[in-house]
Amino acid sequence: MTLKGKTALVTGSTSGIGLGIAQALAAAGADILLNGFGDPAPALAAITRHGVKALHHPADLAHVDQIEQMFAMAEQAFGGVDILVNNAGIQHVAPVEQFPVEAWDKIIALNLSAVFHGSRLALPGMRARGWGRIVNIASVHGLVGSTGKAAYVAAKHGVVGLTKVIGLETATSNVTCNAICPGWVLTPLVQKQIDERVANGEDPLQAQQALLAEKQPSQAFVTPGQLGELVVFLCSEAASQVRGAAWNVDGGWLAQ
Ligand code: NAD
Repeated sequence: MTLKGKTALVTGSTSGIGLGIAQALAAAGADILLNGFGDPAPALAAITRHGVKALHHPADLAHVDQIEQMFAMAEQAFGGVDILVNNAGIQHVAPVEQFPVEAWDKIIALNLSAVFHGSRLALPGMRARGWGRIVNIASVHGLVGSTGKAAYVAAKHGVVGLTKVIGLETATSNVTCNAICPGWVLTPLVQKQIDERVANGEDPLQAQQALLAEKQPSQAFVTPGQLGELVVFLCSEAASQVRGAAWNVDGGWLAQ
């Protein structure tokens, strides 16, 4: 229980990667503020079974005022945020000429601007308490491009850049900021892309295998639990000199 006494805010943690990370942090003893859409009851139950305190805030992170309200709640209920995991994100796939303007604006607001807002709101408390960890869930698409993902790739490259700046600005303190860059993880976000291939005539297993075969040499999905363990490591003393890094966990995607 190395994180006992710390509070972690994990955005977008009612499902997928965020929930896996929140569970790993709870298993390490951190109290958790969950965020995300949908019924939070199953996620809250998965966290409290570790004997830690857990609450949920339903902020839509595309809206700055709601992000500010979430941090006000964290201050009131937990005394602040020691670990911020900027995880919430969405995807939209279309070529640039056909990319809906609203989808561009929403992806930039959630996948990039919310990371800035969360970080600027978390940092003063972390500095005042003399310890903090910011972990940004970017993507391999923060380091390389793919067709059809203009807004996502632009936002994730932005997150990797922002991570470096915060890593530098906190370099002489006990606050660190790093990014994790996953390859394919089988979550609702990726299932939607598999479903689109199925709608175009592929069978479900074939669609899954084709997705992996195109990019991920291991031909196996990364799991939310594996990413959660890496977040716990980045919160440890052993990781205190890991700063401004973009750490890929991608079954070999970027080794090619
Ligand atoms: P997911 O769809 O399973 O979960 C997304 C979470 O974000 C959910 O809890 C959802 O409710 C929440 N969310 C969505 N819009 C929100 C909003 N406006 N405000 C607040 N919360 C919102 O997705 P996932 O695959 O677990 O993705 C999590 C993160 O990991 C994203 O940033 C994504 O870009 C990144 N990522 C995913 C993969 C992958 O293969 N799944 C790979 C690399 C990076």
